[in-house]
Amino acid sequence: MTTNRVPSLRPLAAIVLALGLLALGCRAADVPVGSLLSSSETPDLSRPTGKPELDRIDPDLRAAFESARADAARDGVRLHITSGWRSRAHQERLFEDALVKYGSAEEANRWVATPDTSAHVTGDAIDIGPTDGAIWVGQHGSAYGLCQTFANEIWHFELLTEPGGTCPDMLADGSALR
Ligand SMILES: [Zn+2]
Repeated sequence: MTTNRVPSLRPLAAIVLALGLLALGCRAADVPVGSLLSSSETPDLSRPTGKPELDRIDPDLRAAFESARADAARDGVRLHITSGWRSRAHQERLFEDALVKYGSAEEANRWVATPDTSAHVTGDAIDIGPTDGAIWVGQHGSAYGLCQTFANEIWHFELLTEPGGTCPDMLADGSALR
């Protein structure tokens, strides 16, 4: 009996294993690297999070965000990162989507940078939410070196000054980078 059963279980085990791997593969495919972070809670960035879109943000920028987040919390404002590091492929997809949405490269560039110009691709930019959080950083960010880069993107911040310094004038929009 036993000798008969063991071989008959092997194909079943193989199928279960294959289905398991398939499920894992599907799950991985559903979460593209560098996708918009859907969670409203950004984990502690002072240690690796396992999320490349957070871990590949410039360390100084991560530290500045953490300082700002702690102080914003004292003001009753929550901050989270809605988008951090992006792969070139992800940025390319975003730009292609913008091309479809806006109809021309010129208009698309006002809102979405190409992989060659996006500071997200180098880990030097973060998008901050929710809106009241972005507004808080817009008002207080220079204390941490965090500056709003583009006048039309209140959520997009880069380290553009020393902490406590003065942020440079904003660019009207991303088309200035081309
Ligand atoms: Zn951005």
